[in-house]
Amino acid sequence: MAKKEFKAESKKLLDLMINSIYTHNEIFLRELISNASDALDKLYYNSLQSGDTGIKRSDFFIELSPDKDSRTLTITDNGIGMTAEELESNLGTIAQSGTMTFKENMKSGDESEASKEETITDIIGQFGVGFYSSFMVADEVRVTSRAYGSDEANVWISSGADGYTVEPAEKSDIGTEIVLHIKEDTDDEKYSRFLEDFTLRQLIKKYSDYIHYPIKMMVTKTRELPKEDGAPDDEEPKTETYKEMEQLNSMEPLWRRPRNQVTDEEYYDYYKTKYNDYVDPARVIRTSVEGVSSYTALLFIPAKPSFDYYSKTYEKGLQLYSSGVLIMERCEELLPDYFNFVKGLVDSQDLSLNISREMLQHDRQLKSIARNLEKKIKNDLLQFMKDDREGYEKFFGDFGLNLKYGIYEGYGINKDKISDLIMLYSSTEKKLITFDEYIAKMGEDQKYIYYCPGDTVESIDRLPQVEAVKDKGYEVLYCTNEVDEFMLKMMGFYKDHGFKSVSEEEMKDDQTEEEKIAMEQRNADNKEILGFIKETLGDAVVDVVLSSMLKSVSAALSSRGEVSLEMEKTLAKSPTTAQVKAEKVLEINPDSPVWDRLTETYNLGDGPDGKEMTAAYSRLLFDQALLIAGLPVSDPVRMAQDIDNLIAQ
Ligand code: ADP
Repeated sequence: MAKKEFKAESKKLLDLMINSIYTHNEIFLRELISNASDALDKLYYNSLQSGDTGIKRSDFFIELSPDKDSRTLTITDNGIGMTAEELESNLGTIAQSGTMTFKENMKSGDESEASKEETITDIIGQFGVGFYSSFMVADEVRVTSRAYGSDEANVWISSGADGYTVEPAEKSDIGTEIVLHIKEDTDDEKYSRFLEDFTLRQLIKKYSDYIHYPIKMMVTKTRELPKEDGAPDDEEPKTETYKEMEQLNSMEPLWRRPRNQVTDEEYYDYYKTKYNDYVDPARVIRTSVEGVSSYTALLFIPAKPSFDYYSKTYEKGLQLYSSGVLIMERCEELLPDYFNFVKGLVDSQDLSLNISREMLQHDRQLKSIARNLEKKIKNDLLQFMKDDREGYEKFFGDFGLNLKYGIYEGYGINKDKISDLIMLYSSTEKKLITFDEYIAKMGEDQKYIYYCPGDTVESIDRLPQVEAVKDKGYEVLYCTNEVDEFMLKMMGFYKDHGFKSVSEEEMKDDQTEEEKIAMEQRNADNKEILGFIKETLGDAVVDVVLSSMLKSVSAALSSRGEVSLEMEKTLAKSPTTAQVKAEKVLEINPDSPVWDRLTETYNLGDGPDGKEMTAAYSRLLFDQALLIAGLPVSDPVRMAQDIDNLIAQ
């Protein structure tokens, strides 16, 4: 049988595994056991779906057989098995979804040992190399498998990166048998420990105790023989060795054990094994409810997003168990979209084993579980914020975007449920704060929660309107994310306080009556020149006004109506929405020398030094205001000509 090449990425990954000095190479066993357990789950699920009564869960097992003479460790399961094609596609290539990212990672060619170890840890965490980890301890791997429903078996053989073969084989039962030929010991690594009963027993306890199928091993034991009649009392008792099948795991799922008997470490190990992560979760939530619908849930909030979290392929969901038996790998109905980062499971004795996906969607019990879990998660996040502010801020940095979209989506229908989890950067605290923290500091005279959209904290800091509001002693929330302002518009209010963008024209609401009247008077007095400037700028602006809000610059833009300047920018990037423009108001600072100059030229009447000059100045002021707002100037050539003319004067 001709040898086949691994796909390029698989080969690289294998190379890494084979030459690995990864200190946790023992995890290979956990990976293979977890695959075997999945295969048993799949077989059971299939038999339920197809009504095959010949398959009995009680017959399911996983077996380890170490053999020191042949230096092999065999892992057998009677699960769903693999056809020749499946052997090829499942074991010949690494998980498709991870391939691209893996390629990217491999390019950054730092080859130091430390970085190699880091790469391996990363890869194991992110892509769940699973099966390939066997090459960390074995120099040859043989996988003999017979798929459920097939009477043929095949064997996949590989001794590493040079390729693999698949050929027909003999196997009397369905399932999979993996024979690892364990590497020779080296000075640094005693691989033969993986052939010792003691080590294997310990590893199963450590990583796979909760697996809900028996993991068995034939072990050699010693026992004392009864004394022969008349033997002297002080004679050493005779012993004999015998073999016995021992069950290595307690099979009791973590979440069914009493709370006080499960350590954090055990939860963390379970999480890492089950969800292919290599860092401990940020939070573990365990909850049990007895009542109309009884259930236990074990939930995890990851410490960081998985590599595909913000991609289209990411799917939310919790595993669903019925009295400890897995009935669905990913039940979406149990999590709202805005908590889609939560991992974990629900185990309920009230759910039928062969419930279908369609039935689940309408299941009232499931809906009530989902509602309860949502509250639990919400409360845990609030507690997280209280207990460990730094940790929560990090969490928010990673998953906050999803919460913000959660408010924005569905026209804000969920805003009341999650808006107290949101954080935005504060102009005075110089860090992320919540809306509650903001309103706690609001003075009597402050009507609104102020915010300002922009690209970065630094660019917002420099905006003239922000300066003005800060001068008044108000705190401003910086919206540096595209969704932020849309989210605030959806919210409308937070605990009776409205939001106001400092770049909105209505900011004038905050002036005192006298200030307002004085400015209105100045606008009225300059009606003619303001009208002239507006006419010069045409459709680009809806109004030109004098404003007291500006300090360090002579002119800035504000918006009137629903669409803000920042929203115009965001919408311009979307290929699907039609061009939506903000209604722009050019605000001019009447106390600036620039305004003096404008009026001076305007008063000269028609001619190049008069109104023509005023027009050129107006266009430049407008362009400048566009640039400050982060918007492109509409006609750069025209702008350049205006500047040229002015310089040449
Ligand atoms: P993962 O388990 O993360 O999908 P693996 O590389 O460990 O990645 O396994 C690849 C695939 O090979 C599995 O998804 C499964 O379909 C198949 N597989 C591995 N081990 C077994 C087994 N013991 N029985 C049946 N299928 C298996």
